[in-house]
Amino acid sequence: MAERRLNILHLYPENMNLYGDRGNVLALAQRARWREIPARIVTREVGQPVDWDAVDLVFMGGGEDTHQARIADDFLALGRELASRLQDGLPMLAICGAYQLLGRYYETADRTQLPGLNYLDVWTEAGDTRAIGDVVSYTDLPIEPRSLVGFENHGGRTFLGSRARPLGEVTLGQGNNGEDRSEGAVQDRVIATYLHGSLLPKNPHLADLLLMWALMNRGIDDRLEPLAADEEFGAHETILSRSRNS
Ligand code: GLN
Repeated sequence: MAERRLNILHLYPENMNLYGDRGNVLALAQRARWREIPARIVTREVGQPVDWDAVDLVFMGGGEDTHQARIADDFLALGRELASRLQDGLPMLAICGAYQLLGRYYETADRTQLPGLNYLDVWTEAGDTRAIGDVVSYTDLPIEPRSLVGFENHGGRTFLGSRARPLGEVTLGQGNNGEDRSEGAVQDRVIATYLHGSLLPKNPHLADLLLMWALMNRGIDDRLEPLAADEEFGAHETILSRSRNS
């Protein structure tokens, strides 16, 4: 039987880390440790090697256009192996700038086209204004509650092709493009979203889904023991109440 442990690969923490994105990695590791699952965080910057067989879960945060441009070539080079692992079920959480680079391309505000990994069937083009503020969305993922809350700040408008399905439908905020109410994308065990915040500390149900997927990917089918999450859901509820009052 495979060992219950968790190795999280955090890609480009120096360049791709906005609005507390790193808190997602801390939340994942902590929620694993609270269940006595040893968790290790491995960071990787441009040009460094990856021991893919030792990776159980991948995280990559958002970044300004200039930071995305800085890592884009390296990400493409890494991408072939990453995309094939993702197709095989390796779970990943990708926020904002990372979400954009998992798609076909991201055209930045100065009209430079950064090619993406072409793993997610989405594409992104900068609009004339930025989408900034709290977001509430409702997801079809098998989690309870169905609500997800976070904070968005992006110029990119993302559109989904037929192979990608949205992570959620927004009731507050702009989401992918401000037009079709979709937010984020899900493919295989990859969750891509515009939600910063940090996202996972106030969406512990989503953190646990990622942890469960990571264990499943190691061949472990155990259910995760429930944890008290009053403070986490208290923060969640605070943002939800803003959507009710808006
Ligand atoms: N630079 C990208 C945009 O403005 C991503 C921003 C982000 O990661 N918050 O759309």
